[in-house]
Amino acid sequence: MRRPVIAGNWKMNPDSPRAARRLATAVGRAAADVPGVTTVICPPTVWLGDVARAAREFPVQIGAQTMHFEETGAYTGETSPLMLAGLAEFVILGHSERRQYDGETDEGVGRKVASAVAHGLRPIAAVGERAEERRAGITARVIDRQVRAALAGLSRLIGTGLVIAYEPVWAIGTGDAATGEDAQEVAGQIRAILRELDPEAAGEVPIQYGGSVTADNAGEFFAEPDIDGALVGGASLKPDVFAAILRAAAASTSAA
Ligand code: PEP
Repeated sequence: MRRPVIAGNWKMNPDSPRAARRLATAVGRAAADVPGVTTVICPPTVWLGDVARAAREFPVQIGAQTMHFEETGAYTGETSPLMLAGLAEFVILGHSERRQYDGETDEGVGRKVASAVAHGLRPIAAVGERAEERRAGITARVIDRQVRAALAGLSRLIGTGLVIAYEPVWAIGTGDAATGEDAQEVAGQIRAILRELDPEAAGEVPIQYGGSVTADNAGEFFAEPDIDGALVGGASLKPDVFAAILRAAAASTSAA
């Protein structure tokens, strides 16, 4: 049985270190009441230190929202994997907002995933089709390309701590979540690719669903056999709602 991983992607929120510490503490308290679930909070880079200190006493792990693949160099504005050491255990890579607004490519995501693993960080590799790709009926092709590219720099998956987040782009921040059934269809495809790449590890890699997850719909995703958690944006800023999502994940493991 895979342990669910629920990650809160705070994006460019909140707007002060004080508010970030307060939110981390509230999430930490909620996580302490929910055993059996890996809770990850991903604040903006600038608040990583504050949040890591505030969350230290709670069963919460910290994630960055992106990083560069190089350890050092002339990369203005970037954060290196070495800089995340001691602050974060996870790093989200290839989020669709970074693909859309920051020019991230499949190949670049692959380099980042390999670099994260090499530096002992657990990558949350995000993949997902855009609305027009879904309408064109090429979701499976897009997912296949993105997953293989994201994992291209890894010689094996076992022991990497890899997490894959399936996030249909049309569902992110829109309130228009996928159905559990549709998300499972893609998660099952991702699991099949993992099986082909590394049969030994395929059953161990958590696959999250992301895209307008709420307290009301979370259970529908967690009931699916290949979905092992969620990458949560908007709802991760509301501690009560995020706590309910954590409880839904815990309930799905006890029901299984
Ligand atoms: C996300 O940012 O990864 C996300 C899934 O956002 P939301 O939950 O707001 O749709």
